[in-house]
Amino acid sequence: MPADRLMPTPESADLIALTRELVDDKLRPRVDEAERTATFPRDVFTLLGRAGLLGLPYPEELGGGGQPYEVYLQVVEEIASAWAAVGVGVSVHALSCFGLFEAGTDEQRRRWLPDMLGGDLLGAYCLSEAHAGSDPAAMRTKAVRQGDDYVITGAKAWTTHGGQADFYKVMARTSDEKGRGISCFLVPADADGLTADVPEQKMGLMSSTTATMLFDGVRVPAERRLGAEGQGLAIALACLDAGRLGIAAVAVGVAQGALDAAVAYAKEREAFGRAIIDHQGLGFLLADMAAAVDSARATYLHAARLKDAGRPYGRAASVAKLVATDNAMKVTTDAVQVLGGAGYTKDFPVERYMRETKVMQIFEGTNQIQRLVISRHLK
Ligand SMILES: Cc1cc2nc3c(=O)[nH]c(=O)nc-3n(C[C@H](O)[C@H](O)[C@H](O)COP(=O)(O)OP(=O)(O)OC[C@H]3O[C@@H](n4cnc5c(N)ncnc54)[C@H](O)[C@@H]3O)c2cc1C
Repeated sequence: MPADRLMPTPESADLIALTRELVDDKLRPRVDEAERTATFPRDVFTLLGRAGLLGLPYPEELGGGGQPYEVYLQVVEEIASAWAAVGVGVSVHALSCFGLFEAGTDEQRRRWLPDMLGGDLLGAYCLSEAHAGSDPAAMRTKAVRQGDDYVITGAKAWTTHGGQADFYKVMARTSDEKGRGISCFLVPADADGLTADVPEQKMGLMSSTTATMLFDGVRVPAERRLGAEGQGLAIALACLDAGRLGIAAVAVGVAQGALDAAVAYAKEREAFGRAIIDHQGLGFLLADMAAAVDSARATYLHAARLKDAGRPYGRAASVAKLVATDNAMKVTTDAVQVLGGAGYTKDFPVERYMRETKVMQIFEGTNQIQRLVISRHLK
């Protein structure tokens, strides 16, 4: 059953209707095959871009949709309820554009953002390194100034869309000062010396390519630096606040998909002479799942509304990421339980939902790191 949404404007309600139609026609029929064969659906991102769904939270004059975050996130949730890897991809792409929008000059924005927001250029975000995940300030990839260029050398691990993207937003070290020695660069995929390693073999999100990006003396003009030298980590962390909301919305979408599948099955499947939903023990499990989905959605909507109002939202974003992904992990695991033995097979999507959700407790800051952020706010 589609989620019951209170949209802020008739235009945003139309956007949700458009998204549902597109998801049903173009995404749902393809997800199983793409996940089974680990095929990256580049054309789907082009399609979403053409439909105006890739740049929703950015201003219209730069090619975006001019929508509040509250609306953008609900669109992401609708996409993820059918295809988590694409929902993650939309969120990662938005995150990849965020640095340019927030820290770029007017000239930089006008030059690159319209193609990025229109779906012609797909983005990736390179912060993590093999030894620097939760602690990105420990990164070692270097960007050394040489005349009008920087030369980047190192390896950025775990890049979503690695080897598939058209541009990479890269954080690299421009001085030895730990957190303040990092700068942010917009690197085109065809830059000499930039290659993708063999993609990771993952537990889920098979159609989303994840690879280490190797920088072997990649020369980048200084005009592709976003913000001042040394501002890179601050840009990255600000992006992550927004990105965490994207992941919270994806998690809610997957949990909603799992709940819908579980309810449909529980109404049909009979045991002891009645539908299993009519056994109170199982009906209560489904009720708890529904409550977990609804309450998770409320946390990301609250954080989004703070952001839309220009209020600080870092703590609320961490709460949303923590609650939404932990709730989704529980809901998707319980969905497998509701389907019994069938839930453990690939005949139904719930085992996939469970595998896909696990990583949401890990990326964009693990849930331990979200607790760290929240507890710092409490102090
Ligand atoms: C599928 C996938 C896609 C990804 N996509 C991207 C991407 O596009 N771009 C990008 O930059 N990165 C990406 N990542 C990387 C991701 O953000 C990191 O994996 C994550 O931040 C955790 O870092 P780590 O794996 O190095 O774990 P570690 O930092 O080594 O942590 C290991 C464990 O220690 C815990 N821990 C660490 N520090 C603390 C602490 N202070 N207190 C308590 N516990 C702690 C962690 O919570 C975790 O449980 C992706 C990862 C995956 C798996």
